[in-house]
Amino acid sequence: MLPRLEQITPTQSRYLEFLKTLKDSGFRGEMTQDYATRTVLATDNSIYQVLPQAVVFPMDKADVQALARLAATADWADIVFSPRGGGTGTNGQSLTDGIVVDLSRHMNQILEINAAEGWARVEAGVVKDQLNAAAKTHGLFFAPELSTSNRATIGGMINTDASGQGSVMYGKTRDHVLELKTVLLDGSLLHTCPLDVEQEKAATGQASLAGDIYRTLADIWDRRREDIEERFPRLNRCLTGYDLAHLRDEQGRLNANNVLCGSEGTLGFLVEAKINLMPIPDYQALVVVQYDSFDASLRDARALMEAGPASIETIDSKVLELARSDIIWHDVAPFFPTPPDSPTRGVNLVEFTGGGEQEVRRAVKKLTELLDDPKRTPACHYAVAFGEQAVSQVWKMRKRAVGLLAKTSGEARPVAFVEDTAVPPEHLADFIGEFRAVLDRQGLNYGMFGHVDAGVLHVRPALDLKDPETINVVRSVTEEVVALVQKYHGLLWGEHGKGFRSEFAPSFFGDLYPELQAVKRAFDPHNQLNPGKIATPDARIPLVKLDEPGQRGALDRTIPLASRRSQPDAMDCNGNGACYNFDPDDAMCPSWKATRDRRHSPKGRASLIREWLRLLGDQGLDTESLAAQTNSTPALRSLPARLRNTRARKRGQYDYSNEVREAMDGCLSCKSCSGQCPVQVDIPEARARFMHLYHSRYLRPFKDHLIGRLEQLIPFIANPLARPLYNSLMRWEPGKALVRNIGIVDSPLLAPQTPIAVAARLGIGIVNHDELAGLSEDERARSLIIVQDAFTSYFETDTFAAILESLQYLGLRVWLLPFHPNGKPLHVHGFLKQFETIAGKHASLLSYYAKYDIPLVGIDPSMTLAFRSEYRKYVSTKVPTVMLLQEFLAPRVEKLTKTLELESGKQVTLMGHCSEKTNAVGSLDQWRQVFEALGIELKIEATGCCGMAGTYGHETRNLSTSKTIYELSWGPKIRNLKNRRVVLASGYSCRSQVRRFDNAEVKHPLEYLRDMLRNRDAKDS
Ligand SMILES: Cc1cc2nc3c(=O)[nH]c(=O)nc-3n(C[C@H](O)[C@H](O)[C@H](O)COP(=O)(O)OP(=O)(O)OC[C@H]3O[C@@H](n4cnc5c(N)ncnc54)[C@H](O)[C@@H]3O)c2cc1C
Ligand code: SF4
Ligand code: SF4
Repeated sequence: MLPRLEQITPTQSRYLEFLKTLKDSGFRGEMTQDYATRTVLATDNSIYQVLPQAVVFPMDKADVQALARLAATADWADIVFSPRGGGTGTNGQSLTDGIVVDLSRHMNQILEINAAEGWARVEAGVVKDQLNAAAKTHGLFFAPELSTSNRATIGGMINTDASGQGSVMYGKTRDHVLELKTVLLDGSLLHTCPLDVEQEKAATGQASLAGDIYRTLADIWDRRREDIEERFPRLNRCLTGYDLAHLRDEQGRLNANNVLCGSEGTLGFLVEAKINLMPIPDYQALVVVQYDSFDASLRDARALMEAGPASIETIDSKVLELARSDIIWHDVAPFFPTPPDSPTRGVNLVEFTGGGEQEVRRAVKKLTELLDDPKRTPACHYAVAFGEQAVSQVWKMRKRAVGLLAKTSGEARPVAFVEDTAVPPEHLADFIGEFRAVLDRQGLNYGMFGHVDAGVLHVRPALDLKDPETINVVRSVTEEVVALVQKYHGLLWGEHGKGFRSEFAPSFFGDLYPELQAVKRAFDPHNQLNPGKIATPDARIPLVKLDEPGQRGALDRTIPLASRRSQPDAMDCNGNGACYNFDPDDAMCPSWKATRDRRHSPKGRASLIREWLRLLGDQGLDTESLAAQTNSTPALRSLPARLRNTRARKRGQYDYSNEVREAMDGCLSCKSCSGQCPVQVDIPEARARFMHLYHSRYLRPFKDHLIGRLEQLIPFIANPLARPLYNSLMRWEPGKALVRNIGIVDSPLLAPQTPIAVAARLGIGIVNHDELAGLSEDERARSLIIVQDAFTSYFETDTFAAILESLQYLGLRVWLLPFHPNGKPLHVHGFLKQFETIAGKHASLLSYYAKYDIPLVGIDPSMTLAFRSEYRKYVSTKVPTVMLLQEFLAPRVEKLTKTLELESGKQVTLMGHCSEKTNAVGSLDQWRQVFEALGIELKIEATGCCGMAGTYGHETRNLSTSKTIYELSWGPKIRNLKNRRVVLASGYSCRSQVRRFDNAEVKHPLEYLRDMLRNRDAKDS
């Protein structure tokens, strides 16, 4: 039986006292010292894992001021903090063993957009893409770009002075910062902007912390200007971390913004920023140039610059190969034609943006003429993506590149530690040659990409940090790379900041390093903000060494091998945070979007499971043996113990497994993570395995048994005798209340007819050996076998019938597989033994009929996709392919004719199901092909999750979150579209949710086609 896990690292009493005093001082935000939240915020995207004492989530700047005011008092000078935004740093910047101050949960409002003057005022926790979505409606955008734009916050960007693709044209974040509001460590609010002479006089004359800061900055400039100008590198990327070279701007104005930008939370808490917005370029184009060597692409970049592009990015063959296997490749493949004679080993992505299409096309022509010149070397192939849609797809692919690199087999994983060097672009090719030699000498595997125009290289060598020796490789490679960047007059910290790599700062800055310390001392005299990073306030306090802080690898190492094997998804999560995606119209993690609680994200859940495995390992246990033990123990035998444990849990007895369960309970099992995460972390699988073991210790709620076995029960409840009883109970208020108390709400009613009856009316029968065996070749070619799912068959029997009828209208011969439970609800709730049995039987049934070589086709996307996902993990024999309807129809479209005509002015829109969007690449496009073949233009609407996800939305405890999720994307879209367009939805869950919350009917795509085909035939006859 799963043991109780009580041995966790508790919060130190000093910190508990601080939190209590803070609460008493009027702090209104949330604060928590629960182990789960601390565990989730113990990582960023670096090699480190540092457990904080607590996490606070301020509501507003007043809360941050209350915290800073208290922290600054002598009593609490030993309390340390790290401000945190999206937590996407790659060098431990937001990690601390003190208090994490998370400014992303509540302080994420766009306060003002002034389109006329081209600026926005935002709270620190606003995500970059969130701002750009709002600014887009004014034709504006926030220009600094970074790969993590869908999850990194403006506060984090300013604090790392982020930049990326396009930086040569648009500059870095600080080039777009107009004013900042920072809470200093005395609780005061520092409002910074460039100061003219009079303003500077007033600022430096203040008798306050702000006055000290201004005096220090002005003094450093006055004393050390020449040294600074000599030592600071003249790179497009300047320098992150107290950029003294820009203390004064070109007009000589003192600008504290330039020191705060890139200060990595070591100087104050940024709460608000006024930032510059630029007009969105009217038109874009991207020339994708492919080479037979990476070196050729790097060396050619300078020649390409002559065509005046906005940016040039390079990717190597490894990144390209990984992209080819990714969900997004489908959309960009046409821009990467495979050269007939030579393989592609390097690609330059050359972007042109401008004032209009003609101008951009002229610029592209200039480049393509250059590329077409027969005398030119090196040899290359190219294709051009024109227009915003095409260009953004290619950039999306490039943004996923880092995550994709983590998709390696074996124990070594790409890790960030020398991942963002910058050298003058003219030296980049030579520098990379030597860099490669360093990595090759160590026998490391790696992929590379970067901003060649700015001389920035991204590389994440693969290391197994579970091996205790590997940290020595991190050190020796870093030291060699530090020497190399010095040789080429570049920087180790070219883009992502310093964090725990700050130890190289003193040797880099030489005798200027004490000036950095003076800056730190002025802002943070007691070293409370991210101590040990960038600079310490005092020469006696050392910087943190790169191998000092706790590392994730060292913790993972203690997890027993068998546990790692049984929870591979939790182990594989590399923490890049792509699952913190902000976009409400993207399927990725609805539970995170609805709660803004990072425990309820794929990364959060993976982190919690890893810690669970580790704590079990501490007790000498692994999950493989626990599962074997659980499977062999009769449920009745463990019942008394489970009763006792459940009662103890109710009395408040601590067990870490309960914290993990809480996070798992919030998961919708929508599978967007498994489809969209660059390394395909499958949280529903990890969750099912956890739940299976969790319930060996604790009783299952009755509703889990009901939901898990619903599919098995349905055929009995749906028979003509039981059905009226069931439906009356569900309509009757006391009956509804009873079911609600069990934990289920808004149960759908059973349809008045059985699926067999409606199919029989259409002349469609259950498959049988004799008939199938006797089919002619021609009949077989136009036959399909429908694999039923409980939900469409029994609750939406009209839709089920319409789908069958539409297939008949399309000239197909339809057969019905007898209903058999799919088992997915059992898997979702962690009844793994039962799921294995059901899946095994269903797979045998499918195999039996697969031998007739007639396509097996499912109706509901989520149930159908279970055959190729969950089934393949639990069934020992080969599971036949069961196609989605559109997968079956799309390759047969040539047989369809464009015969359907829409009423003029009508448009048809499809809102897809999360599982098919994310796990069956291109499947929504297949619907578009089917409709197009019949003469109807189908628009695919980008949507997030509908919030239903099988039975999740029907659970009483999930009702409110389910509604919140619906309102993030589906609700507004449905209300906006339903009177103007025909709206279709391919998922049973989605249709039920629209019915439940908007009282609107949306049809299945084939239901709609059935109506259109029927009308056509009626007109024809
Ligand atoms: C896959 C991947 C790709 C990346 N690509 C790029 C890229 O193209 N370009 C690039 O520049 N970076 C890149 N990064 C690094 C990272 O995304 C950026 O540094 C980003 O700006 C961090 O933003 P965040 O909101 O996640 O900040 P966090 O990681 O939460 O914090 C970063 C630093 O800022 C501080 N901080 C955060 N908010 C505040 C605040 N309100 N007040 C004071 N201090 C604060 C933290 O203490 C920390 O020191 C990448 C990271 C990953 C994982
Ligand atoms: S779950 Fe996937 S997307 Fe999320 S952090 Fe882990 S690896 Fe990245
Ligand atoms: S299955 Fe859905 S809700 Fe659960 S972690 Fe994955 S994306 Fe989030």
